[in-house]
Amino acid sequence: MTEADIEAQIREMFEENYELLQAEGGHALTQDGKNAALRQVLLYWQKMRDVAENVTDTEVKLNLPDQMTPKGRKYGIEGVVDIIREDDRTVMYDIKTHDYDYVNKNKELYEKQLNVYAYIWQSLRGQELDQTAIIATAFPTAVQEALDRDDERRLAAALEEWNLLIDIPFDQLHVGQTIADFGAVVDAIEENKFAPASVEKLKTRFAARGRELLFATQVCRNCDARFSCSSYRNYVVSSGGRSDSTFARYFQEFGSDSEQEEWLTANLDAAPSPEAFEV
Ligand code: SF4
Repeated sequence: MTEADIEAQIREMFEENYELLQAEGGHALTQDGKNAALRQVLLYWQKMRDVAENVTDTEVKLNLPDQMTPKGRKYGIEGVVDIIREDDRTVMYDIKTHDYDYVNKNKELYEKQLNVYAYIWQSLRGQELDQTAIIATAFPTAVQEALDRDDERRLAAALEEWNLLIDIPFDQLHVGQTIADFGAVVDAIEENKFAPASVEKLKTRFAARGRELLFATQVCRNCDARFSCSSYRNYVVSSGGRSDSTFARYFQEFGSDSEQEEWLTANLDAAPSPEAFEV
C-alpha cells in the first residue's frame, strides 16, 4: 500500500467515524473544526507510524468489576488501551488528547490510572507487562504556529521535534489507594456533589505547551461548563480590570459572530428531522 493509499483510507475512515459520531450525538463540527481534526489525525499517523504498525492488540477493553465505594455502592472500572508485544517485551499505551509538556510534568496524574490498568492486565488477565506509556496527541505550540502560518519548512522542523511518547513508571503498591479514590469519586457523583475547583486552584500555574499556564487558561478555557461555573466567574472578576469590560471578554469567548453562525448551521444540519421523533 502506498503512502497516498493509506492517506486516502484514513480520510475515508475519518469521514465514516465522523458521520457515526454525528448520528450518535447529534452534534456537528464546523468545516474548519473538521479540517483541523483531520489534519491532526494525518499528522498523528505520520508521527506514530512505527507504533501504529506494531500494535498487536488495539482498543483492548479492561474491566475491574464488583468494586465497592467507601459508602457501600457497587461499581466497576473500565478502560481502553493499546498493547504492543515485540521482542518479548509488552508495552501498554494509553492515548490522551493532552499535550506532552503537561503530561510529562504531571506524570503522577496519569500514573494512577495506568497503574490500575496495569494491575487489571497483570493480575486479572495474568499477562506480562514491561512498560506503560502515554501517547499525548495535542500539537505542541511550534507545530500549531507552523500550521497557522502555512510554513512547510517550519512544520517539517516542528514535526521532527514533536515528541508524543511519555514513559509512565508503574508501581502496583498504590493500586489499592487509587481504586479507593475512584470509589470516592463515584460516591460524590451519586450524591450530586459537583463543586468546581476553587478560585485559588484556577490561579495555580503548571507547565503546558512549552510554558507556564494558569489552570484557568489550560483547563477552564476548554471546559464547556465555564459559562455557568461560579469559580470561573469569580476568577474572571478577580483577575483585574473593570467588571463590565472583564465580563464582556468573558462572554466573548464563544468566538466571533461568523464562527458562532457556522457552528449553529452545522449543528442544525446534523439535528434529526422532526419525523425522527414521530411514534
Ligand atoms: S470552568 Fe470547568 S474546569 Fe474550570 S473550575 Fe469550572 S467546572 Fe472546573
